[in-house]
Amino acid sequence: MTRQLDASLMPDANGFFGPYGGQLVPPHLKQAMDDIAAAYDKIVQRQDFQDELAQLFADYVGRPSPIFHARRLSQQLGGAQIHLKREDLNHTGAHKINHCLGEALLAKFMGKTKVIAETGAGQHGVALATACALVGIPCEIHMGQVDIEKEHPNVTKMRILGCNLVAVTRGQATLKDAVDSAFEEYLKDPVNTIYAIGSVVGPHPFPKMVRDFQSIVGREAREQFQKKHGKLPDYVSACVGGGSNAMGIFTAFLDDEGVKLVGVEPAGEGIDKPGKHAATLSVGKPGEIHGMKCYVLENADGTPAAVHSIASGLDYPGVGPQHSYLKDIGRVQYEAVDDAECLNAFMTLSRVEGIIPALESSHAVAWAMRMAPTLGKDTNILVNLSGRGDKDADYVAKRLGI
Ligand SMILES: *Cc1c(COP(=O)(O)O)cnc(C)c1O
Repeated sequence: MTRQLDASLMPDANGFFGPYGGQLVPPHLKQAMDDIAAAYDKIVQRQDFQDELAQLFADYVGRPSPIFHARRLSQQLGGAQIHLKREDLNHTGAHKINHCLGEALLAKFMGKTKVIAETGAGQHGVALATACALVGIPCEIHMGQVDIEKEHPNVTKMRILGCNLVAVTRGQATLKDAVDSAFEEYLKDPVNTIYAIGSVVGPHPFPKMVRDFQSIVGREAREQFQKKHGKLPDYVSACVGGGSNAMGIFTAFLDDEGVKLVGVEPAGEGIDKPGKHAATLSVGKPGEIHGMKCYVLENADGTPAAVHSIASGLDYPGVGPQHSYLKDIGRVQYEAVDDAECLNAFMTLSRVEGIIPALESSHAVAWAMRMAPTLGKDTNILVNLSGRGDKDADYVAKRLGI
């Protein structure tokens, strides 16, 4: 038990989860990260900060999100019972608002004058722009020109929400270039601005901070499930891109030895096809990316590999350091689901339960659907439904010719 208990108390003072994490950044940035870590440790102890966050979770996000027993789906599969933690019902439609509110509120308490971030498909950008509008702090989002042209609804939302959207035209004009551009802007004034990372990745303290803000998901779910069923679920599953929604629901269960935790990665067009998946923990190896040590998908020359998933939110060649550690100690099992199985889960949940899931979340649903028929009817699988699929509906309809 001590090992698991250690895992939930991690990281250590230097931001390490076993050998993973840390702050692999230049000295001036290390100072900025240390300042954020120190401020965070102080501010989370403050009652006014905790009260304000709790109030926003309740009245603004709509927490607690319910757990729904997918009875028809379970019956159809003829095995285990599938339950969904409904993060799709949150304001803005996904779990990301949980940590974006935390980050925006932290920025305000630290007296920062601007929040900076990058966004790929625009999900993190919209959630952050929302949180900054609410908290009343200027927000600057860097986004590749190519992505801006592809992701119209999210771009429009960010503009309506009042953030300063910076179009990045350098390089390939996609996510990586947006990261570089946003980081450069942040480095101009790390004292008055703050960089808001969108998952449990990057240098310390972000993997810990984002996890802590997301851990409300698992705390609620554990209590809700126990109250409703008089016991804990047998399995808890969640999709893993960077890993924030998964850490969000896993953290409360880390010490419950009887609860099996399963992270589901995107196998894209097949984990045997380099560049065509983003199953970092399934086929990657320990390395470095974006200021942290973690599992990575790399080319032979050590540069980050190309990645692909039907779910753009899972499309990342690294993964959170805590996931890397939890894999090594065997506390979490990592599985992979490909695009086709994901699409099947997306359509099945829509038609059998009337819930259109995000393509990201559909990976976790797909694993549960694969597993359920092999288990008894009194076995319970709790799936973190990280977001809703409105954003994916047009794409799926076109792809399937609906
Ligand atoms: C961004 C996103 C993800 C992936 O991010 P994690 O940090 O791995 O949780 C998953 N689901 C939805 C709905 C998302 O928007």
